[in-house]
Amino acid sequence: MTATRHVMISGGAGFIGSHLCDHFLGLGYAVTAIDNFCTGREANLAQALKHPDFQLIRADVSEPLPNDVLRLADRYGLEGVLHFACPASPVDFESLALEILKVDSIGTIQLVDLAQKYGSRFIVASTSEVYGDPLVHPQVEEYWGNVNPIGPRACYDETKRFSEAYVSTFARVHPGFKGGIVRIFNTYGPRMRLDDGRVVPELCRQALLGKPLTVHGTGEQTRSFCYVSDLVAGIGKYYASNLKQPVNLGNPHEITVAEFARTILKIIGSASSAFSSQPLQYGPDRPDDPKKRRPDITKARQLLQWEPKIDLDAGLKETIASFRQDPALRQNN
Ligand code: NAD
Repeated sequence: MTATRHVMISGGAGFIGSHLCDHFLGLGYAVTAIDNFCTGREANLAQALKHPDFQLIRADVSEPLPNDVLRLADRYGLEGVLHFACPASPVDFESLALEILKVDSIGTIQLVDLAQKYGSRFIVASTSEVYGDPLVHPQVEEYWGNVNPIGPRACYDETKRFSEAYVSTFARVHPGFKGGIVRIFNTYGPRMRLDDGRVVPELCRQALLGKPLTVHGTGEQTRSFCYVSDLVAGIGKYYASNLKQPVNLGNPHEITVAEFARTILKIIGSASSAFSSQPLQYGPDRPDDPKKRRPDITKARQLLQWEPKIDLDAGLKETIASFRQDPALRQNN
């Protein structure tokens, strides 16, 4: 490695983590990604792996950290630890529930200890899901949320809430600890897995294959979608600040899921004309699915001078173009 500043990114082979790796490499950092590839893909790191200042460690951060992690930190120092390892899609809530509970509890504790040992900046990826099915709209950071602690999404919501509790309490007990929390709202873009069940890849995949788009529930539930380059810019600004308090990062443009599905059809255009007269197919409600979701980003605007720049049409065009090239598009369909 030639760079003098070094960050470690858990979940570096995932959707957001891999974009963060590219971001920090672009700023001249040495970057170590730690990933167990339970939902990540090596293809996400195609660009990073060519970089001389990039290292990849295959490891599970819920298990004792391998010696390689400490060896690299001893050798190059460790300016920052960004904890982005956690499966994040509804499909994963079913198939990886216990792994999710571990990575945002045991994994968070271990990576906080690592950051404390090296005096590093620490950031944990939290989520709008900590607000549950919100009774306050739009969601402000002061809102404590409406979460079902034993529901099918609890493995994700509640472990993220534990993560926040751990990082904020650790910072109170150890005032020198530079740990902070970003609350990420629905983010989309290239490198999402087409089969991960999240609304963006799911609807785009169906539209690209000329199938009807499945809308769960009435379709009147709302979401606010942030393009990944905007999110990464916000995380970069939060990292560079000395903030410890949670800050919402997301795009406040709110849209119903049905309207969103129609936007995808409009962009994909010609393929959609092959559809039946009913391109949207309504499916059952997902249990505990939030009815409304929109970030209040006043804090991000004021404290970070950050706001998203990419509008939905432009972001979706980039995303759909990348999905078209994804070999997974035509597999098992
Ligand atoms: P992702 O599934 O694409 O990435 C997660 C990465 O973590 C994968 O590469 C996976 O292999 C890795 N991982 C999981 N468990 C691990 C473990 N125990 N040890 C090592 N690596 C492990 O998901 P994403 O969308 O990139 O999400 C990244 C983070 O951002 C997560 O913490 C997620 O909760 C948070 N987040 C994402 C969104 C979003 O809209 N994408 C919204 C809110 C919060």
